[in-house]
Amino acid sequence: MSRMIRARIDTAALRANYSRIKAVAAGRRAIAVVKANGYGHGAVTVARALEAADAFGVARLEEGVALREAGIRQPIVLLEGVVTRGQLQEAAAHRLELVVHEPGQIALLEDWRGPAPFALWLKLDTGMNRLGFRAEQFAAAHSRLAALAVPSSRLRVMTHFACADERDSPVTREQLARFSAIAAPLGLETSLCNSAGIFGWPDAHGDWVRPGLSLYGVSPFAGESAASLGLAPVMTLTSTVIAVRRVEQGEYVGYGRLWRAARESRVAILAAGYADGLLRGLPDGTPVVIRGRRAPLVGRVSMDMIAVDVTDLPDVEVGAAVELWGPSLPVEEVAARAASLAYELLCGVSSRVALEVTT
Ligand SMILES: *Cc1c(COP(=O)(O)O)cnc(C)c1O
Repeated sequence: MSRMIRARIDTAALRANYSRIKAVAAGRRAIAVVKANGYGHGAVTVARALEAADAFGVARLEEGVALREAGIRQPIVLLEGVVTRGQLQEAAAHRLELVVHEPGQIALLEDWRGPAPFALWLKLDTGMNRLGFRAEQFAAAHSRLAALAVPSSRLRVMTHFACADERDSPVTREQLARFSAIAAPLGLETSLCNSAGIFGWPDAHGDWVRPGLSLYGVSPFAGESAASLGLAPVMTLTSTVIAVRRVEQGEYVGYGRLWRAARESRVAILAAGYADGLLRGLPDGTPVVIRGRRAPLVGRVSMDMIAVDVTDLPDVEVGAAVELWGPSLPVEEVAARAASLAYELLCGVSSRVALEVTT
């Protein structure tokens, strides 16, 4: 069945982006982050395509289990760890590695009587104040983990930057200094960088980098294109024109009558709406691409449809394919129109969108 809205996933671009990241972080290992269904690209699709990946990262237990059930054999890191004994048991059964960021998790591990088949990533909070032990708690947390039956090669330290996407941020310099002073002296393997850290903070690469967004060919920096970083977009989101209509000068289009035709216009109606993952906040003028040419969105994004002014593209007809983002229109640019981020658009792609994999 051919669906009206499709996301084509270019696995060759995905592999090229992974290679590019490995070249930028030369000699480091990479945890390819595939949480949130691989940022909307299909976590299993992405993991299968990246057979070269050193490891995968997910946020939640169920995401890691889904990868194991699909036959993925690389190490898988649970970036939020686990909070109950049952979760720990399930994580152990699936050989998942755990981030340890709060004392209750250490207590669970101390009470755990099963084998210790996974690695542990002890997280230092260097200033983000989301997950991780504060500096003054860190040494005690480390001693307790070191007393468990986990070989030191499988005990690692990590942190996360709050502002790595600001190329010269004093915040990142401070976080890096704190990590170097407190965690690095333990002599364990380290991990600090998301995509922005990888491309913006080469001094912070550590032993393991954690690319997410950049894997999918998206720039982590406002005002710097993915192409300038050597990355290519992996997803092309394409919809279909389902009606083309004439709108008289002075008439309105869509809910709330927010857009008024300043001239007699041709308006194409597309099968794409917020139920597919488009943001309702996308304003008039947001571009789409039809046969290589841009046309502006007009009126409200509704649940199943958007309207586009094609007055200047007279050959657009019902059935025409329309790129909503992809190689001709960076998802970063679309996100910026709604004061959002590519992250939100990509992981918002809904189950109504057909994922089509190309190699
Ligand atoms: C999501 C996540 C990443 C990946 O971040 P990107 O900005 O998408 O590269 C890395 N580390 C942690 C802890 C994460 O939660």
